[in-house]
Amino acid sequence: MDDLVPRVAGWLAAARSVTVLSGAGMSTDSGIPDFRGPQGVWTKDPSAQAMFTLQNYVADPAVRVRAWRSRRDHPAWVARPNAAHAAVAALDRRGLLRAVVTQNIDGLHQAAGVAAERVIEIHGTLREAECLGCGRRVPMAEALARVDAGEADPPCLVCRGIQKSATISFGQALVPAVLDAAVAAAHGCDVLVAAGTSLQVQPAASLCDLAQTGGARLVVLNAEPTPYDHQADAVLREPLGTLLPRLLAAA
Ligand SMILES: [Zn+2]
Repeated sequence: MDDLVPRVAGWLAAARSVTVLSGAGMSTDSGIPDFRGPQGVWTKDPSAQAMFTLQNYVADPAVRVRAWRSRRDHPAWVARPNAAHAAVAALDRRGLLRAVVTQNIDGLHQAAGVAAERVIEIHGTLREAECLGCGRRVPMAEALARVDAGEADPPCLVCRGIQKSATISFGQALVPAVLDAAVAAAHGCDVLVAAGTSLQVQPAASLCDLAQTGGARLVVLNAEPTPYDHQADAVLREPLGTLLPRLLAAA
């Protein structure tokens, strides 16, 4: 494994543009639990997944009340970026980062200093609430303040529609413009670094194929095996919090 670090670092050093594809493993060191992993929230409590299904959310006020409580208590509000986020931000400061395409909704890449325009949140963001009726967005803090003030399921202040976090639920389509940006970032980079993602959820997984079709190297950094390991140019399994800084220091 150790001879892979200088080799991958060499690819990064020679690259003009690097795209990072990040998943839950990027934020576990920040105290944000994984959903699908062995210790995942949904693995341990499948009923929690019901909250994230759009149909249940719209149909059942009790699901919405539970979802608002879960948002209020989400670890993202107190989480700090970790060493892996800092390494991605360092890549950005060096002018190498084309984009970070993230499955995470926690906003920690931006908190670590990656320019907001280079963070592509394919699963949306917890930091805003969106009205399912009129599409109006408000800061999540504003919606949560209403929850704290006693509104268990605060409706949109303009149209009284149902509000939800601006995240992609099961049964909800991705935002086409966001998806387009992710595709362009994957297809147009020299190295795609898939970090902390099991690569089992679309469209994140297919971005690996797109990157390789575009001529990029594919580097998979994940604790568990992924379906893309066999076609990756390098696979490293060390914890991201030590691995990413090492790769950057060597590059
Ligand atoms: Zn509305």
